[in-house]
Amino acid sequence: MKSRSVALNGIEKDSFDLCVIGGGATGAGCALDAQLRGLRTVLIEAGDFACATSSSSTKLIHGGVRYLEQAVSERDLGQYHVVKRALRERKIMLDNAPFLANPLELMVPCFSRREIYYFRIGMKLYDWISGPNMLFQSRHLSREESLRRMPMLKSDRLVGTIAYADGQFDDARYNLALLQTFTKSGGEALNHARVVGFKKNGKGQLVQARVHDGLSGDYLQIRARVFINATGPFADGIRELAKPGVRRRLRLSKGSHILLPVDAVTSNDALLVPKTDDGRVIFAIPWLGRLLVGTTDEEITLQDEMVVKEEEAEYLLKQLNRYLVRPLNKNQIVSGFAGMRPLVASGNPRGTKELIRDHEVEVDSSSGLISVLGGKWTTYRAMAQDAIDTVMQRLAMPAVPCITSNHRLAGFDGWRPNFWAELVREYGVSKETAWHLSHKFGTTAIEVLDLAKDTPLLKEPIVEGFGSVLAEVVYGVREEMATSIEDILARRTGLQFFSWEQARAAAPAVGAIMAHELGWSPVQQKDAVNGYISKIDRLMDLIGLASPGSRSLSVG
Ligand SMILES: Cc1cc2nc3c(=O)[nH]c(=O)nc-3n(C[C@H](O)[C@H](O)[C@H](O)COP(=O)(O)OP(=O)(O)OC[C@H]3O[C@@H](n4cnc5c(N)ncnc54)[C@H](O)[C@@H]3O)c2cc1C
Repeated sequence: MKSRSVALNGIEKDSFDLCVIGGGATGAGCALDAQLRGLRTVLIEAGDFACATSSSSTKLIHGGVRYLEQAVSERDLGQYHVVKRALRERKIMLDNAPFLANPLELMVPCFSRREIYYFRIGMKLYDWISGPNMLFQSRHLSREESLRRMPMLKSDRLVGTIAYADGQFDDARYNLALLQTFTKSGGEALNHARVVGFKKNGKGQLVQARVHDGLSGDYLQIRARVFINATGPFADGIRELAKPGVRRRLRLSKGSHILLPVDAVTSNDALLVPKTDDGRVIFAIPWLGRLLVGTTDEEITLQDEMVVKEEEAEYLLKQLNRYLVRPLNKNQIVSGFAGMRPLVASGNPRGTKELIRDHEVEVDSSSGLISVLGGKWTTYRAMAQDAIDTVMQRLAMPAVPCITSNHRLAGFDGWRPNFWAELVREYGVSKETAWHLSHKFGTTAIEVLDLAKDTPLLKEPIVEGFGSVLAEVVYGVREEMATSIEDILARRTGLQFFSWEQARAAAPAVGAIMAHELGWSPVQQKDAVNGYISKIDRLMDLIGLASPGSRSLSVG
């Protein structure tokens, strides 16, 4: 990726076929598809890339067994098609970036023979719908086998488990890999740039977006022939800018997750809790060295803050603890995150957990705005394909076929599962660091470690007990447009998801390198570090965890 200032200069002077608004999964997918089909494309993101819903998911690449259950119980053909398409996309996502995604076996505990039959038939149906894209067959595990693999399960009434396959991924890094692939293909991207208005031509069609640069405070104009609104939960806001008074289409649902040490449950397997108090499922999944537990589902508005609250953390623990011999407690939580599901309102009064996870490409003929609404991470590519087909039609261009189903992402070339061992051999880094880099960057990890050739200090860990090294901070700033400590610690390295306390401890070192790279003054550096630490303290306070406080670590 270009540096932000170089990108900004070029974008202002240029004129584009397509401007994609929103740098989450949907926007990144649209931008890549369009650029690969020959459209000159720019992507504009109000915050950091992947800063909203796309880094707050349950990290599952899935058709959705719960949606299949709804499809069957309500004879809902729409839900069935959503599941079928997602299962096809699941395989594509795994194949295009295997360093960021892997198949996963999930286990459903059953407490009666009836439950065994019910889930066995359901999962066989899931396998069957997957067809050639099946990852591996679902199967019944005996009570003994289930307890061997999950010794933490309450054994008194357990009859057995049903194990089935889905995919799992690193959502923030997948989003960044899509953007890296897009910019490597010639596309332009800019973060911290918010669309705040549009200019129309004499026929009322959008021709320019007015954009606020969140870092300098300046405004710029972006010229394009077509604009795609890929702003997820914020899509109604852009629709309103293009056509004041337009009917709102989205209903928003908040989902919270908590993370705990993976050894808190003495199992490396993923658990699906099939029934919660509010009629949902929750997952407890090993993910990048932690146990990820989620999610809640609560209808909200855009004004609600996306932070995990104490009652949400307690709710998740309560649902999970019903299945565990040794209950987990709040003090074991190491971090958490919350996001907003952008669900397309169906017009009926169903609760948000029952709304279909399908997407819609809406064309506003009066302004020409194309909005991509709803969907799931798993279907981002199919959503983009539909959206770009629509763009090509609007531009009356000869139809160019979509090639993203077979387009490997940046970091894929030459990658294999034991690539990390080569990093250990070639660069002398620890096994932990090599594994981390291999699974965050694929073979692009070489570019990260090459930064340390002349400055061996950059091979040092960002913080003890986590694989990330200081070179990632430099790489994040120079090649991935990171501009804040949170950009680095949350979405680039993932340390903020691994541990709030460790992220907090890493902030001064990260701030020092960023200050050097970005030319921050000592005051700016101090503010950045203290601002980040205060934010983490607040996240901890909100769920009732004793934060180390701004006592020892704050700068100055
Ligand atoms: C709790 C939860 C769990 C989930 N789990 C899964 C899962 O396991 N698997 C799965 O497949 N899906 C899952 N999903 C769904 C999936 O995460 C979302 O469908 C997907 O991330 C939406 O991506 P998006 O790009 O549309 O939206 P976002 O990621 O929210 O991106 C929209 C972007 O637009 C930007 N923006 C807003 N306004 C403007 C503006 N004016 N100018 C410029 N940019 C703007 C925002 O800053 C934001 O970055 C989950 C969702 C939630 C909330």
